[in-house]
Amino acid sequence: MIKAVRGTKDILPGESGIWQEIEKISRDNLKLFGYREIRTPVIEETALFVKNIGGETDIVSKEMFSFVDRGERNISLRPEGTASVIRSYIENNLDKISQFQKLYYIGPFFRAERPQAGRLRQFHQIGVEAIGSLHPALDAEVIALSAKLLDAAGVKGYRIKLNNLGCREDKKRLSKMLKEIFSDKKGEHLCEDCKRRIKMNPLRVLDCKNDGCREIVRKTFKEAVFICGECKAHFEEVLKFVDMLNIKYEIDPYIVRGLDYYTRTVFEITHEGLGSKDAIGAGGRYDNLSLDMEGPDVGACGFALGMDRIMMALGKSKELKGVDIFIATIGGAAYAKAFGILNDLRNNGISCEIDYEKKSLKAQMRGADSMGSKFVLIVGEDEIIKGEAALRDMKTKEQISVKMDSVTQKLLEICSPRG
Ligand SMILES: [Zn+2]
Ligand SMILES: [Zn+2]
Repeated sequence: MIKAVRGTKDILPGESGIWQEIEKISRDNLKLFGYREIRTPVIEETALFVKNIGGETDIVSKEMFSFVDRGERNISLRPEGTASVIRSYIENNLDKISQFQKLYYIGPFFRAERPQAGRLRQFHQIGVEAIGSLHPALDAEVIALSAKLLDAAGVKGYRIKLNNLGCREDKKRLSKMLKEIFSDKKGEHLCEDCKRRIKMNPLRVLDCKNDGCREIVRKTFKEAVFICGECKAHFEEVLKFVDMLNIKYEIDPYIVRGLDYYTRTVFEITHEGLGSKDAIGAGGRYDNLSLDMEGPDVGACGFALGMDRIMMALGKSKELKGVDIFIATIGGAAYAKAFGILNDLRNNGISCEIDYEKKSLKAQMRGADSMGSKFVLIVGEDEIIKGEAALRDMKTKEQISVKMDSVTQKLLEICSPRG
């Protein structure tokens, strides 16, 4: 039997309802914050990611699904959302309509990571990009929005960690500093990846997940002495606005994010349910990306939350919603009558289900229960003669009699139609 590709996962009906719910709550909140959805293709030219995420990052050097298509073009499945959104912002001249744009996306992304818990090769993200402003209030708002979405999804116990990477010049200074620190003996004890990173992409040594590296880094690098005055002042303003929004956070000087385009404010959100190495979400500012991609010179910031990781953090704490009503029938005449009622209920916005396998009443009641149905309407031959049906509340086990010709009216009173 052919199975799902390694590192991919089916989202089954028992779970997809929760996904839909989280997506809906997220969309509602994103709208409150002024974001509009953008849907970009899942494939892009490989160069988009190589040039903008950075050729020396793990994502580009090890994790992209890249291929040459029949037209000899180099194509990659998108490993993240920001580069695509900025490409689209520039290509479609969105800046000409309004330079400031708040955009969000929800969808699948692809990275060929070693499959393990919480790391899928097709994973799903909710992300935002606020493009066109350097204002520190925007950083704070973006951070607050990420927390708001997690709260709305019901995630508890997450931690927000902030850091200031400084501008491009500051990052260069930091890279030079790290090269100097680790070029002597201290560097010898770093992992093989970090030994390469120290030459090609020194910043990444700071957030290496290897325990040995973490220890060495925390002993040798403590303070952010590489940040220029302007970037320092910007971050102080960001923190003022974050405090104003009552967001709890901690400063973590080891957060650098694995992508080259980040500048100034960066943040990560961790959750105990995922362990210390995986974030449930992350984001930051990227003030040079648009200009680097031959677009307007505009500041921007954003974040992405991992949907799969939100699901992991929620565990089994969420309850699934079933149908409102199951109609149980006894005999062919009752079934015909019930089938009409079923249609009428659905037309009135009440979710309902009926048996299609000619099961016994007992089996139908069991089915209604496992379906999570709130009520069961029982229609039998006797009920048809009397012109009444029995309505059973599955929670309280109470049963009342309902007039057959006013079933829909009665049920509309009990169950509000789904919006
Ligand atoms: Zn700076
Ligand atoms: Zn390392």
